[in-house]
Amino acid sequence: MNKQSDVVSLVNISTQKWPPRHRTYFGSLTIQTPEAGAAYAVTPVRACTSLMDLGDKRTMEILLTAQEIAEDLVREINGDSGEGSYHGVFVAAGPVPTEDELAEARKKLEAFQQRLVDAADLEWERSHNMMFITCLERRAARELRLEKPWLYDPKPMADCPACGEKIRPGVAVCRTCGAILDREKAAKFGLAEREEKTGEVVKVQPEKVVEKGKRG
Ligand SMILES: [Zn+2]
Repeated sequence: MNKQSDVVSLVNISTQKWPPRHRTYFGSLTIQTPEAGAAYAVTPVRACTSLMDLGDKRTMEILLTAQEIAEDLVREINGDSGEGSYHGVFVAAGPVPTEDELAEARKKLEAFQQRLVDAADLEWERSHNMMFITCLERRAARELRLEKPWLYDPKPMADCPACGEKIRPGVAVCRTCGAILDREKAAKFGLAEREEKTGEVVKVQPEKVVEKGKRG
């Protein structure tokens, strides 16, 4: 067996960026992330020799195959988020992953992401607190293209001119104080009408007109 040419392909289907992996026998290795539009990225992993310390200043050179090293890395990355976690990293049988291997990895990744979303749903139901939703759970929901009330909205928030609370840009009515911020839009959704019927039209407070003092 020619160990020098012993290379295996570590495949990553996740868009997550991992910090470089460190091992005494190869130094540092960065797991590649798929480019935009690509289904996967391959990181070649090579065989290495490692010095095993036997004590009494004796060492033994041991050879680690590319497969062993890659499997160790895969275990470390996939196991990063607790029991049964999976982050879309695997060792391909050949130099490039087969369709079956990719489909299997996608299935496992989606199942793990769904578990994260379910956990976040439960947490949200219990606490309604965004603070308890993890980055991993948000990422999972986004990757599964799920709309969730606990998903962090990356759009910048604006301030309601009436009450000063944070509002989403472009909303017709302030959720906090009920001020109509876009009359036309509010009317379109029947929001302004309803307010008028109840006789409780909430108006955005006009800026005070500063009267100029009399001359003289
Ligand atoms: Zn308001």
